[in-house]
Amino acid sequence: MAGNWKMYKTVGESVALAEMLKEALAGVGDRDIVVCPPFTALYPVAEALKGGTIKVGAQNLYPAEEGAYTGEISPNMLLDMGCQYVILGHSERRQYFQESDQFINDKLQVALEHGIKPILCVGETLEQRGEGRQKTVVSMQVERDLQDIPAEAMKGVAIAYEPIWAIGTGHTATPQQADEMHAAIRANLCGLYGERVAQGVCIMYGGSVKPGNVDDLMAQPEVNGALVGGASLDPESFARIVNFQP
Ligand code: PEP
Repeated sequence: MAGNWKMYKTVGESVALAEMLKEALAGVGDRDIVVCPPFTALYPVAEALKGGTIKVGAQNLYPAEEGAYTGEISPNMLLDMGCQYVILGHSERRQYFQESDQFINDKLQVALEHGIKPILCVGETLEQRGEGRQKTVVSMQVERDLQDIPAEAMKGVAIAYEPIWAIGTGHTATPQQADEMHAAIRANLCGLYGERVAQGVCIMYGGSVKPGNVDDLMAQPEVNGALVGGASLDPESFARIVNFQP
């Protein structure tokens, strides 16, 4: 269960939210919980969460060791700040920053080489769904983004199915729509890596997940987790989402 804080929260606000979540989720031991604050708050949030069950992820990285890449953040910088996860290929990065599947694949390779677990986001637009192309689009993203990623590395990769029309819009995919797309992604992974590896990959749903819809989504057999944007900024909402009851 992961929270994407996007470009919200100052350092002080981030630490306050992290401390509230640490307390609220202290007893939860049977599920992985990750928060992804903005770069500026990664280190103080990781420090605030030390000794608890919540892990820290970044929202991006640059696929190089170091160098003249003004404004970018390297995998070692993320590790240095206590990050164990990174969100890659989020639709906002594909859309506003023209990130290609090739670039996302480079980032994935570098993250895995450094032992940072990627949460790879894929998903179709409303127009693509209207044309009935959602499975083709998502399957192409999965295949291109995972190119040359070996089977043994896949235990460190989570995939978040995030239909673009559901992100930040309040329009959630129905549990059946989510389950159907997750099953298609699983079949795709099965073709690439075989049944055993495919079954081991955590496929998360993202797109307007809220306390009121998380239980039905998580009750679907192919839905293994959730990537939560807006509702992860509120401690009560995110704690309720993490404590879903399928
Ligand atoms: C997201 O940013 O990945 C997301 C799913 O956002 P929201 O929950 O606000 O739709």
